[in-house]
Amino acid sequence: MKIENPNPIQWRFSERAAQLQSSFIREILKITQQPEIISFAGGLPSPATFPVDVMKAAYDKVLSTTGKTALQYGPTDGYMPLRQWIADSLSVNGARIVPEQVLMVSGSQQALDLLGKVLIDEGSRVLVETPSYLGALQAFSVYRPEFKSVQTDEHGLVPSSLAPVAEGARLLYALPNFQNPTGRTLSVERRLELVETCARLGLPLIEDDPYGALSYKGEPLPKMVAMNPEGVIYMGSFSKVLTPGIRLGYVVAPLPLVRRLELAKQAADLHTAQLTQMVVHEVVKDGFLDQHIPTIRDLYGNQCQVMLDAMAEHFPASATWTKPEGGMFIWVTLPKHINAMELLDEAIKEKVAFVPGAPFYANEPETNTLRLSFVTVPPERIRQGIAILGKLIAARL
Ligand code: PMP
Repeated sequence: MKIENPNPIQWRFSERAAQLQSSFIREILKITQQPEIISFAGGLPSPATFPVDVMKAAYDKVLSTTGKTALQYGPTDGYMPLRQWIADSLSVNGARIVPEQVLMVSGSQQALDLLGKVLIDEGSRVLVETPSYLGALQAFSVYRPEFKSVQTDEHGLVPSSLAPVAEGARLLYALPNFQNPTGRTLSVERRLELVETCARLGLPLIEDDPYGALSYKGEPLPKMVAMNPEGVIYMGSFSKVLTPGIRLGYVVAPLPLVRRLELAKQAADLHTAQLTQMVVHEVVKDGFLDQHIPTIRDLYGNQCQVMLDAMAEHFPASATWTKPEGGMFIWVTLPKHINAMELLDEAIKEKVAFVPGAPFYANEPETNTLRLSFVTVPPERIRQGIAILGKLIAARL
């Protein structure tokens, strides 16, 4: 039986909900999912790297040996053997991380929300890089902070630019490895200087590191959490080294903070799926990632090089771009008068897409910037798409 609604509901949203905005990138993705579009817009990992058979075998094994536990509710802080594995893998260079500091989350995106919930009041000052990860700006915005942008250059965040804006700040959110959106890496010297500066200022430092393992050449640079586990909050994810669809990430924090985060998580979703955590532990415990990650690095590294070569050939000399040493993104700076949003409209007509840079800025946007991802596009299509973009940029000079 269907009841009538004589008094239709006038939805009154909370002030918080009223200001929720859809991520610009997710909107673009809707357009660019059409197969004929060459899309450099996505931030998606390449499905060619997803170890489907390995995951299938692990699901089978977990369900057939410990199925009843895997399908039961679990603890809020997570599956202990996996937390132990994470703590051990971060306990390098003399650092000692204990599993009690590790909170499993439903994608590291959830860690951003939980951190916002427990650290940010309305008007709290939050320091972010210029530009920064859009998903973090979106997650923190719900808690209505006052964002202050911290200067960055080609070596990443500039530590000496912190002091003038750090007064009363609740946190600094930093992306040291192959940053989203710029692909830049914070140098080792800068890491030390940053950790020291934050320690001196008493400023909590969030190290968001989903791409750290995806270094094309050489060993990944030291993690800041290892330099100061009492002052750095580390965020990791299985999205870029295994698969994003399982929604599994973790946050490593000093004990007083991790307890608060756990309470916030308990209220949000009780816990992250136990089955997923047990399967991932089954996959990683004997070193699978050590052989798997190099295959991802090779694929992304090659495609990155194809894109860089094509850009050198087709982009005008007045454009500049980053040369990433890992990760998934290249950041382009066009001559000041070219608006990347307008360029996108033209590019879509020519069946090429990218993400304009403006949404990645917490404060004054630089509208002549854009982000390109090369990971899901085969080399031939990368060359075609870059040639088209180069032509469109040249026409606007
Ligand atoms: N941080 C950064 C910098 C990211 O790029 C992403 C994913 N695009 C996330 C966090 C969230 O990742 P996930 O929730 O899949 O772990």
